[in-house]
Amino acid sequence: MADRKMNATPLVEIRNLKKYFEINEGFFKTKQLRAVDDVSFEIMTGETLGLVGESGCGKSTLGRTLLKLYEPTAGEILFEGKAVKGKKELEQFRKKATMVFQDPYSSLNPRMTVADIIAEPLTVQGYFTDEEQKKKRVRQLMDMVGLNTEHAARYAHEFSGGQRQRIGIARALAVNPEFIVCDEPVSALDVSIQAQVINQFDELKKTLGLTYLFISHDLLVVRHISDRIAVMYLGRLVEIGPADEIYDHPIHPYTRSLIKAVPIPDPDRAAADKEEGLKGDIPSPLDVPTGCVFRTRCPYAKDECAANMPELTDRGGGHLCACILK
Ligand code: SF4
Repeated sequence: MADRKMNATPLVEIRNLKKYFEINEGFFKTKQLRAVDDVSFEIMTGETLGLVGESGCGKSTLGRTLLKLYEPTAGEILFEGKAVKGKKELEQFRKKATMVFQDPYSSLNPRMTVADIIAEPLTVQGYFTDEEQKKKRVRQLMDMVGLNTEHAARYAHEFSGGQRQRIGIARALAVNPEFIVCDEPVSALDVSIQAQVINQFDELKKTLGLTYLFISHDLLVVRHISDRIAVMYLGRLVEIGPADEIYDHPIHPYTRSLIKAVPIPDPDRAAADKEEGLKGDIPSPLDVPTGCVFRTRCPYAKDECAANMPELTDRGGGHLCACILK
């Protein structure tokens, strides 16, 4: 297995990525849903970039668009410095970039055995002509994620939630990818199982030198596994930086509210923090506020916030924030 260590080379880069959907409103009327709007970032080789935000903020759409499971409305995706466009580049990209889905209950075909589920990407991409070799690879993958190889002929429903997610991880690893988008991979699991699966992701990253985009609404999960964290709100990136820096010194009022909402064991601090928690619901992505997208919920909003969406500006140490506050 290749020894891929974290370094300063971007493995994945997105530039001004947009994904808009036309939503039918009846009587031949459509409205534009800007799920991902002008998002740029890079992920270094061997890095885990955590992507957080409330549900409906565009995180999953961003993950799918980045992998070209959705065709971008605009913007560029680069892998190993090369733009992913054209059939040949896309074929190469598919071999190196893959996804672990949120729900291990619905993402596995109930009519296939575990061995067939894990072998499917190998079959689709024509990796092995020799059936014995393919079986050997499946056993190796099951072993790698801590599944009993004697259970290869069983069906997915015979496994627990945590084991099913391990099947999903083994399938994602089948083609020996370099980059994995992990879309809320533990949110459907019991809290007691979550830590085991997160540790599994961490271990695999170290052993196989993987690079992750780790999507979650749970800041604690993201902080645990990420080198850097990106915060998304209504399709926009509002803050990005080193994980500890974002968690300990958040700048954007939205990130600060998310962190205040994380349950903390100290009752005095919890009481003091309560007033600063996030107020109201996230607006519909069909009616995004003009100017700063967060202004309808921001306790610091001023008139000028309605004029333009602030650009991400560098606040030092690779910490970027899109807010007029200094
Ligand atoms: Fe709040 Fe204005 Fe900053 Fe937006 S730009 S987060 S509305 S202070």
